[in-house]
Amino acid sequence: MSHDFSPHPGTVAILGVPLDDNSSYLRGPAQAPDLIRRALNCDSANLWAENGLDLGLAGVIHDAGNVALVAGDPDVVAKIEAAADRILASGMPLVSLGGDHSVTYPLLRALSKHHPKLTIVHFDAHPDLYDELLDNRLSHAGPFARIMEEGLASRLIQVGIRTINGHQRAQAQKFGVETITMRNLDRLRSLKVDGPLYISVDLDAMDPAFVPGISHHEPGGMSVRELLDAIQHLGGQLVGADVLEYNPVRDRDDQSAMVAAKILKELIAKILYQGRDAFPDWP
Ligand code: MN
Ligand code: MN
Repeated sequence: MSHDFSPHPGTVAILGVPLDDNSSYLRGPAQAPDLIRRALNCDSANLWAENGLDLGLAGVIHDAGNVALVAGDPDVVAKIEAAADRILASGMPLVSLGGDHSVTYPLLRALSKHHPKLTIVHFDAHPDLYDELLDNRLSHAGPFARIMEEGLASRLIQVGIRTINGHQRAQAQKFGVETITMRNLDRLRSLKVDGPLYISVDLDAMDPAFVPGISHHEPGGMSVRELLDAIQHLGGQLVGADVLEYNPVRDRDDQSAMVAAKILKELIAKILYQGRDAFPDWP
């Protein structure tokens, strides 16, 4: 029966980046990639995205495994960048599974070579714009400072922000960052994005009521549905994404792992269909 099969749309690679050395508060995200994969393949759900893509079709997901990292590795930036670069050079779009948010900087070093003039939409409770934190310029609190200093994106839009301080406000102004704070989330509806788009999802953009498995519980965040709607309705051409900061040490009954897997599904489906549905009559 034809309705059992979605048309084959191509392949997206997934890459795990098991690193939490640059977390400022708790360890745990290094364990996340394999646990998000396990949630994605959990028998409690199927592999169909909301647009009608069946991610279970052979070849839709190419699992590139995890970047080989050891704790305290001094070459993490070069290793992550090289791993991402290898995949992108093969022509596959890439969705990465963190890991703490520091990994977005090396990922963007690789991606920007293949996609200049990138727009980044970054969902997070935190702006992650610190020049340095705890003497660490690679801190998960600062990847977007590194990205903007190196000109790896032409536009950075941060969504869900609810912790901005004086230093990071100055950094946002310096780098021309567009900020949609949580208290003004309705501005998301009029956001216009075009050209190549990268989406970076720190799971703490969502409220800890929905996603307890994160290191920094910042109340007053997005619902899971609000984040999914935002991903589904963003314009531009989605060329890559990451899902970061899952901390299984703080999760309950894999609740947050399932949220991470759901977001992963929707990101892959958006890359392959760019806002269209797999079927003309899809609900
Ligand atoms: Mn973050
Ligand atoms: Mn955060």
